[in-house]
Amino acid sequence: MAIQAKGRLNEDSVALLRDIGIRIDDSKRKFLAQAPDFPLEVLYLRDDDIPQVVAAGTADLGIVGLNEVAEHSPDGTPEGSSLQIVRQLGFGECRLSLAVPKSEDCDGPAWFSGKRIATSYPNILRRYLADHQVEAIIEVIAGSVEVAPAAGIADAIFDIVSSGGTLISNGLKEVERVFPSEAVLIAGASMTAEKQSLLNEILFRIDSAVVSSKKKYLVMNLPESAIDEAVVILPAMRSPTIMPLAAKGWYAMHAVIEESLLWQKVRQLKAIGAEGILVLSIDKIIP
Ligand code: ATP
Ligand code: MG
Repeated sequence: MAIQAKGRLNEDSVALLRDIGIRIDDSKRKFLAQAPDFPLEVLYLRDDDIPQVVAAGTADLGIVGLNEVAEHSPDGTPEGSSLQIVRQLGFGECRLSLAVPKSEDCDGPAWFSGKRIATSYPNILRRYLADHQVEAIIEVIAGSVEVAPAAGIADAIFDIVSSGGTLISNGLKEVERVFPSEAVLIAGASMTAEKQSLLNEILFRIDSAVVSSKKKYLVMNLPESAIDEAVVILPAMRSPTIMPLAAKGWYAMHAVIEESLLWQKVRQLKAIGAEGILVLSIDKIIP
């Protein structure tokens, strides 16, 4: 598996592997590391190189931004790539956007006609311009694209945006959101049966970890009279667990809930008399 050696995706990639029980020793970071407890070797690369390395079969899998997959595809789209996107990983979220100096009155894609646009993502940009029938001049720049307008090299930029802070500090404004991206797990077009079964194991573990990261485990005490209502408030995987407490007429209820519903549910449970509510993180959920 190829992962980014250093940069924005490295830490989350290593953390994801750790979450699924694959520890890799990166204390003395090498080019290649063997996981001691899973038949996996990890290759540390620059993110730009990951799509090619996986497409060439040097690595079977890779963790990389969808933006890099699209950029290395012949038509500037992830679908046009020979790589398979096997999972979206929910980190490294960002987007590729067009931005212009904030004084410009840009009113849509047509504004870019005849303009010079600086970018490190010429393929994705070319595709966008063709889709909008705009002819512009693409200036390919490897780094610090955001300084190109001030340096007089370009009229606009096409670059990665996440918070937008870099644009603002360079006197630019985002005008077209073109390509939403996040980190993805990629695989080559084909794999031996043995490798496919290892990939299936990895996917099974990733899915358990991702599902559990969005859920919380709730434990609370309830008077007997509140149980029926509590079961309606907390529909569980099968049904919530209810256990009698030593104190007569009181029960402990355990349930797993969506984190997004946590505060709403807690308010409802308090209203029917729940006490001593504990909210716990879940490590894995294995259906
Ligand atoms: P490398 O040395 O590996 O080539 P890099 O400098 O090209 O690194 P990073 O800046 O580490 O790349 O970004 C890696 C990926 O992280 C991007 O391709 C993108 O998918 C994602 N990303 C998420 N948020 C941001 C952001 N705010 N700026 C840049 N990249 C981001
Ligand atoms: Mg790079």
